Amino acid sequence: MADIRLLPKNIAEQIAAGEVVERPASVIKELVENSIDAGADKITVEIQRGGIAFMRVTDNGCGIKHDQVKTAFLRHATSKIQTENDLYSIATLGFRGEALASISTVAKVELLTKTAESESGSRYVIEGGSEVVFEEIGCPKGTTIIIRDLFFNTPARMKFLKKDASEATAVAAVLDAIALSHPEISIRFIKDSKSALVTSGDGKLSSAVYSVLGREFSSGLIPADSTTTGIRVSGLISKPVYCRPTRSAQYFFLNGRFIRSGVISKALDQAYKNTVMVGKFPACVLNIDIPLSRVDVNVHPAKTEVRFSDERAVFEAVYYAVKNALLAGDTRPQFNLETKPQKKETEPFTRMSVEEYKKLNSSKPAAPTVAEQVYGIGTAQYQPPKTAAFKDFGKTLVSNKTVNVSFKSEPETVKPLVTEPEKPVAFVKTEEPVQKEKPYQQILDLVLDDETKFENATFIEENEIEFKYIGEVFRTYIIVQKKGSIWFIDKHAAHERLLYNKLKSEGVTEVQTLLSPVSVTLSREEHRAVLDNLELLRKSGFEVEEFGTASVLVRAVPASLVKTDVMFLMCDIAANLVKFGKAETDILDDLYHNIACRSAVKGGNAQSAAELEEFARKILSDNSIMYCPHGRPVAFELKKSELERQFGRTK
Ligand code: ADP
Ligand code: MG
Repeated sequence: MADIRLLPKNIAEQIAAGEVVERPASVIKELVENSIDAGADKITVEIQRGGIAFMRVTDNGCGIKHDQVKTAFLRHATSKIQTENDLYSIATLGFRGEALASISTVAKVELLTKTAESESGSRYVIEGGSEVVFEEIGCPKGTTIIIRDLFFNTPARMKFLKKDASEATAVAAVLDAIALSHPEISIRFIKDSKSALVTSGDGKLSSAVYSVLGREFSSGLIPADSTTTGIRVSGLISKPVYCRPTRSAQYFFLNGRFIRSGVISKALDQAYKNTVMVGKFPACVLNIDIPLSRVDVNVHPAKTEVRFSDERAVFEAVYYAVKNALLAGDTRPQFNLETKPQKKETEPFTRMSVEEYKKLNSSKPAAPTVAEQVYGIGTAQYQPPKTAAFKDFGKTLVSNKTVNVSFKSEPETVKPLVTEPEKPVAFVKTEEPVQKEKPYQQILDLVLDDETKFENATFIEENEIEFKYIGEVFRTYIIVQKKGSIWFIDKHAAHERLLYNKLKSEGVTEVQTLLSPVSVTLSREEHRAVLDNLELLRKSGFEVEEFGTASVLVRAVPASLVKTDVMFLMCDIAANLVKFGKAETDILDDLYHNIACRSAVKGGNAQSAAELEEFARKILSDNSIMYCPHGRPVAFELKKSELERQFGRTK
């Protein structure tokens, strides 16, 4: 081996710089974080050629005093912490004093800065770590920093950069995260002389989300805000039906810092469990505010990883905040009858264009506010009829067929036909009667015309049938009318969910002993897992015992499963026992899923109308049932108003 020597200063500097400056995006992250720490509320970022040729960050923050400009570029020079103790309660984004030093080592840097107190500003040019110019100049308060020719003196690093477009995308992603974590700061991003992002800086998270992630994204979000053991978790989370094919729309901010965290991801997954389809991921913008002393941010040079003093508390805080928000804010999926072309799957959301943004701002307050867009969804509730006179309207409609009746409730333009107080009251419209030929009418006819179909219905308001079973299509979907909507219900998903809920609350109530016990051969791991969980299996209706070194004997199963293939079932359960690990509630939960899924009616099988009607009634009477245990939606709603819109009766 060669002799041991101290590295020359320039090599040591470049090694250190490599930890902080990996690509243009990491430079932008450090510079914008400096602007935020400097108290700026307006930050403009401009890049050319993916940032490799040119990057400029301008802020209106506190600026740097003339006599401290050079110091700012020294390694380990910082104004943000002073003592060791400060390290344990870091309130700024930066604190390591490395960014400016590192960036100036591997690029050509020009800094213009002025404090509010100072008459004149400073200009400092430093290239590859060597000073070129230092002078006093006139400039506005704040700081502008220009980076040219990144890695001009380290061609080896240059080779690792991707295409300009990819580097620009990475810069945009950094700015997205920063804009979302600081809605109080107006961020502007200009890419190759074109405006690519503008946020209003009005302090509202929903405004930032709207600007960064676009309108469609915003409309599928529900607010979350709860505090558990001193940890506040607030922000916006997606409704389960709006989940995405990747995790890319999950933003976690810890005390204003964008972070990645396995604990928080897990808590999010857990809270969405059973509501999201396999392979889909929730989207979220979640701020986690935690006392500074309970988190260590000094784990990684890029500061995107953190260590919590109590991971469990963080997990619980996130879990409960998300779970509560889902319980309170999720509504059943609506039928999507948009006539406009749908967005492609590969483009889950689009960024708002500058024009759109301008329009939004100029048309305030007439345009729906972002808050309305985000929070207003699903809040329209069915209103009970105002007068008793409407109560039996539908009945009269049937029993008195000669009356021309309006299907649109317009109490001010109608007058009572029959006025005896005890009798049901019908109304006729004083204007022209509804024409039977209208397509809308035909649809309604399908649903309403046949007198016999009214038999079991309860009448609430004009056409507002409380609940009516219409039928089944494709031997899979149940159709019912309820109040002002038609509902489509997946019969398997519905039955599965009902069985699962029952199992969760009552456990397995009926066990059936098999005529002849079934022996099942398992892998060594599965065998062990089954034997470890015999008691839990018994609790969920399976009587199983050891049978040789690789087999088990199944003697009894839940009564609802008697007709299923016991061997196949046991193999499946055993495989899941291995997969799901040790938590007792998880294991029981999984067993209940399995039982519910296998006991439920299948699409394609025949059921009686009475049975299907019963499913529908139960599903629709419990608003908390929205998904089958695998996260598929159980029911879709098609509102009468949507039908009217489709048929051009309303706009
Ligand atoms: P750190 O942010 O970890 O302190 P940096 O190398 O990023 O280290 O910056 C060094 C110092 O330069 C900061 O502590 C701060 O005092 C000053 N500084 C950097 N950027 C700005 C800015 N945009 N406005 C005001 N001061 C700044
Ligand atoms: Mg910094």
